[in-house]
Amino acid sequence: MTRRETDHVTSEVIKQQNEIIERIRQNNENEYQKTGRMKYYRVITYGCQQNNSDSEKLKGMLRLMGYNQTENNEEADVILFNTCCVRENAEMKLYGNIGALKGLKKKKPDLIIGVCGCMMQQKHAVDMIKEKYSHVDLIFGTHNIYKFPEIFEKALHEKYTLIDILDTDGFIVENIPVERDEKHKAWVTIMYGCNNFCSYCIVPYVRGRERSRNPEDIIEEIRSLSQDGCKEVMLLGQNVNSYGKDLKIGFDFADLLYKINSIDGIERIRFMTSHPKDLSDKLIKAMCECSKVCEHLHLPFQAGSNKILKLMNRKYTKEEYLEKVNKIKEAIPGIALTTDIIVGFPGETTEDFEETLDVVRKVRFDQAFTFIYSKREGTAAAKMMDVISEEEKRNNFNRLVEVQNQISREINESYKDNIYEVLVDGPSKTNKNMLTGRTRTGKVVNFKGEAKIGELVNVKINEVHSFSLNGEIVINNQS
Ligand code: SF4
Repeated sequence: MTRRETDHVTSEVIKQQNEIIERIRQNNENEYQKTGRMKYYRVITYGCQQNNSDSEKLKGMLRLMGYNQTENNEEADVILFNTCCVRENAEMKLYGNIGALKGLKKKKPDLIIGVCGCMMQQKHAVDMIKEKYSHVDLIFGTHNIYKFPEIFEKALHEKYTLIDILDTDGFIVENIPVERDEKHKAWVTIMYGCNNFCSYCIVPYVRGRERSRNPEDIIEEIRSLSQDGCKEVMLLGQNVNSYGKDLKIGFDFADLLYKINSIDGIERIRFMTSHPKDLSDKLIKAMCECSKVCEHLHLPFQAGSNKILKLMNRKYTKEEYLEKVNKIKEAIPGIALTTDIIVGFPGETTEDFEETLDVVRKVRFDQAFTFIYSKREGTAAAKMMDVISEEEKRNNFNRLVEVQNQISREINESYKDNIYEVLVDGPSKTNKNMLTGRTRTGKVVNFKGEAKIGELVNVKINEVHSFSLNGEIVINNQS
């Protein structure tokens, strides 16, 4: 199997970064000997799982530098915002949160405030922070997280805002330290970037073109996770279905699933996100044959009207989408399907919207993540014009939510009185006397009984809601 040619470059880069990590750790250790005070970091993450995965890398590097995690700004010596630019309101929220730290920075001038992630790949956002939030010490983008120790060390010694944004796609860097939020479940990025340029989406501009990790690096990472007690992996990519195309080694996402399925100790495999146009028969077969691949598929359809799908540049029709859904339902009975839907895309009339409702009624998704279209500057759709009023969009949106909630509820009803395997995530957030976890189909279950985090237990469902289920452990099949 051929490997990416950049590997020899990256191992040199990582060596340099590790030396810097060690230097900072040593300084922090010396300071601790003098003052007796530990140092703390806080990483605040916005947006998708890819961002969460990136944050785990930042946390891993900070931990090795001798910083401990805190959720308290007052206690922190380093505060990092890992940003998302997919929705406009995230930008406003970020500026508000950065502005709120001005007083703290005055009180603690040595506090390092950093901003990174997708939003920082956009010039207007960087300019805004430079102009209005001079208390920010460092800004970096999505492509150079591996260089964080180097950028951070400079920021420790500089008084001006340090900016390090890489415009190119960057290369894949392996072996960055990771501080995972959970031990029994892990996000594993299998590819970066996207080639699809859906007309409403900013991701290809801020995360670059598709770059797949070498299969053996992914397998190695998952093996090592399994040795550390990990039971479930979530494979991440903007479009995992096109994994491997850029490697040109005749190894695709279905092949990767078979390999991961054979790793001892891993009990469940999940993945997201899938682009419908790349959902192949081979992949459906692999999902059927790999016993550890969970019976859940997130397959965004975005809109039901072929006119709107074309304007969105989604590269499939309503009929093709429905055909793929039928194939997967036939191949994997009981599979849970979830989706993303945009209402009010420029050019969408209420007649077009009826086509979206038609898809929702025909497919019967377990859950849908529904959004009213929000314009992102720099995308093709930003120049397109609306044809209906905001009020009409809102009415359509409310109708969609009502129809989907009813379907979700009906599907959840079918779980009642049946027994499902649940992976225990820990105490329930809503009821301290219960545990929480997920079925293989991805349903949140709050349940009574005793079990450890990471155990697989059997739970009998006795109560259902639109977004969760309640139950009780009946048989413990693993200890
Ligand atoms: S597939 Fe489309 S929506 Fe998904 S990241 Fe790529 S461009 Fe954005």
